[in-house]
Amino acid sequence: MDRVIIFDTTLRDGEQSPGCSMNHDEKLRMAALLDEMGVDVIEAGFPIASPGDFNSVKAIAESTKNAIIAGLCRTKKGDIEACAQAVAPAKRRRIHTFVSTSPLHMKHKLNMQPDDVIAMIAESVAFARQFTDDVEWSAEDGSRSEDDFLARAVETAIKAGATTINIPDTVGYALPTDYAAKFTMLLNRVPNIDKAVLSVHCHNDLGLAVANTLAGVAAGARQIECTINGIGERAGNAALEEVVMAIRTRNADLPYTNNIDTTKITGISRALGEITGVSVQPNKAIVGANAFAHESGIHQDGVLKNPQTYEIMTPESIGLSKNDLVIGKHSGRHAFKKKMEVLGHDLGDNALEEAFAKFKNLADRQKKISDEDLIALVS
Ligand SMILES: [Zn+2]
Repeated sequence: MDRVIIFDTTLRDGEQSPGCSMNHDEKLRMAALLDEMGVDVIEAGFPIASPGDFNSVKAIAESTKNAIIAGLCRTKKGDIEACAQAVAPAKRRRIHTFVSTSPLHMKHKLNMQPDDVIAMIAESVAFARQFTDDVEWSAEDGSRSEDDFLARAVETAIKAGATTINIPDTVGYALPTDYAAKFTMLLNRVPNIDKAVLSVHCHNDLGLAVANTLAGVAAGARQIECTINGIGERAGNAALEEVVMAIRTRNADLPYTNNIDTTKITGISRALGEITGVSVQPNKAIVGANAFAHESGIHQDGVLKNPQTYEIMTPESIGLSKNDLVIGKHSGRHAFKKKMEVLGHDLGDNALEEAFAKFKNLADRQKKISDEDLIALVS
């Protein structure tokens, strides 16, 4: 009941973001790391998009040990067949098909009547089911779809055999309250809703991807679609590391379980940065360089006395060896002494006073103080 499925789309939605494309070997490396970390489903790509995409989805399907391998496809038969072929070698495979359900998308993107969209959903999901029992259907632009139509579309997809129903906030427009209301509405109105797992997929255009994700889960969704470092179309997707650490840190209020080994977070975040050449900003939650760095003297002193004073989670829980004491002009004596010890200089009282005075002087003139600067002060 409280188990949430972690569906990672770093290799599909994430890879679609500017500057984040990956080659074949890089995708295989990421997939292996995702599998090792314990994600339940790896969306490996969009097989019809290019021969390269097809081949990497297939290679990931062949080599992955535990996770379900999903491929994305539109509603056309050729599209679904390509996806089915690419995921076929996987021990457990999923076909993920989607079509738009919002008035805006149906009219301007699909140029189709709502009734025709319903027929297309029934046909495409039933066709996908011929290749696997595990079929996910997404209502593209779901958060901006009308309730009546969305409920009808979801009922149709489940009747045709969809086992996971994803309601994406494709354009990152939703607020937590209205996103949650969509799930409540579906749970109340769709008669066969108990035959499928509901899924969230949120974009960060308003910085609300993680908040919306958690609101959707609180309303009953049990699959979370997310990416490492939050990469993805435009402003990105909900970040896997943020969602997972929110659930872990606030587990009394977010009482869900998942299979992620959180100590792998730092390693996989850095591997992705290295592969794509796109690193996260220093103040990025969980994985930013400063996420566990304390500079102000009061904070440093508190953390040295008891980490819980200013840390809501331990650096070790995400695979960082220790918090990083950043020595700068706001640092106090206690942190300075500790840092000098780490650098191999155990200073007596007098030497400490002298070095600390020199250090404050230097910090007033220079923004960043390196370890070498600190050593120079005492040598
Ligand atoms: Zn997306």
